[in-house]
Amino acid sequence: MTVAAVRVDAMTSSTAYIGIGSNLGRPIEQVRRACDALAALPSTRLVARSPLYRNPAVGPGRQPDFVNGVAVIETHLEPHALLDALLAIEVARGRIRGSERWQPRNIDLDLLVYGEHVVKDERLTIPHPRIRERAFVLRPLFDVANDLDVPGVGAVSTLLAGVSEADLRRVDDIREVL
Ligand code: ATP
Ligand code: CA
Ligand code: CA
Repeated sequence: MTVAAVRVDAMTSSTAYIGIGSNLGRPIEQVRRACDALAALPSTRLVARSPLYRNPAVGPGRQPDFVNGVAVIETHLEPHALLDALLAIEVARGRIRGSERWQPRNIDLDLLVYGEHVVKDERLTIPHPRIRERAFVLRPLFDVANDLDVPGVGAVSTLLAGVSEADLRRVDDIREVL
């Protein structure tokens, strides 16, 4: 890559943090495959992925435990295009979306943070609206970006200190920086 190309890349790409969760169909493999799908997105580079954590489901009724992690990408996709891409990966991976919220799912991809952007419309809210209450998001987010400031919300370290991690179990000791 030429120096000019590197400059253009640095000027126009954004760092985005993607929350990945699964509690159906071999969840650890589901999360790994979702990372592969993120890496294959156009104009996007997978930069890092966090360790994975097993944690109880927050959804209704009895559900299998979730496996959660966070991927870091550098992307030229705009926030709504990135959301569309995440939803398309979910569909391609066979997610069936019912009418009730927080059902078991083989894959869930949430756009947690997109650069400095703050967005709130009918399709997309960033930063993700429930970051501050979720240890299963904050712990892997801290693992990959311990100095991250979640725009309009606060430092990830401060947010993590405000939640209990008692229910989290680390399931994957492979921390990969790509
Ligand atoms: P939660 O949002 O509490 O994590 P969920 O992930 O189960 O719940 P979904 O059913 O996957 O919710 O998503 C419902 C809708 O949320 C999506 O169709 C999407 O339009 C919208 N949405 C809004 N903001 C975001 C975001 N930051 N990331 C992903 N989806 C979002
Ligand atoms: Ca979610
Ligand atoms: Ca989601």
